[in-house]
Amino acid sequence: MSDNNEIKTYQNYIDGAWIDSTSGQTYPVANPAHTDQIVGNFQSSLPQDAENAVAAAHEATKVWGTMPAPQRGAILFKALEIMGCRADEMARAITIEEGKPIADAMGEVKRAMNIIEYAAGEGRRLFGYTTPSELPDTVAYTMKRPLGVVALITPWNFPLAIPAWKLAPCLIAGNTVVYKPASSTPLSAVKLVEIFEEAGLPPGVLNMITGPGGSIGNTLVEDSRVGGISFTGSTPVGTAITARASELLKKVQCEMGGKNAAIILNDADLDKAVPGVVQGAFGSTGQRCTATSRAIVEDGIYDDFMDELIKQTNALTVGDGLDETKDVAPLSSKNQLDTVLEYIGIGTEEGARLTFGGHHLQDGEFADGYYVEPTIFTDVKPDMRIAQEEIFGPVLSVFKASDITDAVNISNSVEFGLSSSVYTRDLTRAYEYINTAHTGMVHVNAPTLGGEVHLPFGGLGSSGIGQREQGTEGFDFFSETITVYIDHSAGAKERSRFI
Ligand code: NDP
Repeated sequence: MSDNNEIKTYQNYIDGAWIDSTSGQTYPVANPAHTDQIVGNFQSSLPQDAENAVAAAHEATKVWGTMPAPQRGAILFKALEIMGCRADEMARAITIEEGKPIADAMGEVKRAMNIIEYAAGEGRRLFGYTTPSELPDTVAYTMKRPLGVVALITPWNFPLAIPAWKLAPCLIAGNTVVYKPASSTPLSAVKLVEIFEEAGLPPGVLNMITGPGGSIGNTLVEDSRVGGISFTGSTPVGTAITARASELLKKVQCEMGGKNAAIILNDADLDKAVPGVVQGAFGSTGQRCTATSRAIVEDGIYDDFMDELIKQTNALTVGDGLDETKDVAPLSSKNQLDTVLEYIGIGTEEGARLTFGGHHLQDGEFADGYYVEPTIFTDVKPDMRIAQEEIFGPVLSVFKASDITDAVNISNSVEFGLSSSVYTRDLTRAYEYINTAHTGMVHVNAPTLGGEVHLPFGGLGSSGIGQREQGTEGFDFFSETITVYIDHSAGAKERSRFI
């Protein structure tokens, strides 16, 4: 959807050139708020395109892997500057292809900039360490070495921030990249690549191909020239990638689904807890991996919490994400719409009480989009499907708990373990929760959402496997640690016979 209403066709980026797929085919991406508006046409790539991209990336390791890391950092700093200049354009691209409110999209751009800044500075660190050797006249130290070619496979819900938080640490560590964005959000990917191209990345260092994950993704996982795979997306796909990459003895990290709970204890500050749950459940239309999909409320505060929850949910406005007055935007795709509506039906059939919302909005301004009302189920039991499975939409299940132990048990009763939170004024109970919550990220008196780029991000159980992303840990996945021993003595000496 260009400004002059012509539908633009976007290309793959391989070896420093924008080119068509070998298939000669493209596919359209529609704006989820107005499905008659086409955002652009994108390449329907084939496995051959993935192989070409890997070949270019493999060749480019010679240049990029040997470039001094501070010089790589300088290119990332340049990309940061360019992204800052294009921030409004990037945010708009996110909203028109993913649907989220423009303020959330701008938040995503800022998050992408934060991670690029953080990773760029790492060009002057990438520390190993030295340690005394057990032998005389011997120096022992460690150093980091890139993996080579890394495949980045990303989802649609953060079409800029997630690729950026993989790409920046991956590049600074000296790897070259084949990047496969989600098929429904390729515009942000094109713009991200444009920014790194303009920043001066040598040809072949970053390659991007659009098209079906099943065939292209599989090619990337299988190719022997790909040394590592960093994936974010659904648990079934991540599980299959982990299994295959492990068989091939490749490094793999997968960030996957969530079923995040906020626990509200009797002594919670409702002025904090209710807005936190509303923002967590319905912000970005519930399509965040860290979205609050369960509220577990202690008996004594349940009625007050529910009154305020309904009041604040009722005040939310639904509409096109480009309209700054709207709080909740459309779902991202027809697929997402169908899934969310199906789960609303399942919840009702299972006997949960549909306390708020639940409707597919189709009249007037909603006629051309994928809109569902913010939805709240109460009387939810922990073994129901809506309590166990990731819905990934604006649907909140509310549970009543008898005490903190019961609340934490409900919270921990799912296969996922990404994020959770507790609202309490009692430090002892806060720590009880922190020490027993089965999630990779825990929040106290704050929503289940988000994270800061200089702290690790990721989940337990079915939510994540492999090394954490972001934080100092975020660089570990993208490097091998090499241990070096240098004997600088003159002549022979007695050596350990242990290994
Ligand atoms: P999918 O797993 O469907 O897709 C993710 C990516 O994998 C897409 O690029 C997709 O391509 C590609 N893909 C699909 N099939 C294969 C395959 N067989 N081999 C390799 N790649 C493949 O997830 P969604 O895009 O639907 O994303 C939503 C999910 O992401 C949710 O479960 C959410 O919780 C999770 N997520 C987790 C986060 C975390 O940090 N834990 C953060 C954000 C989201 P294509 O689009 O062409 O199908």
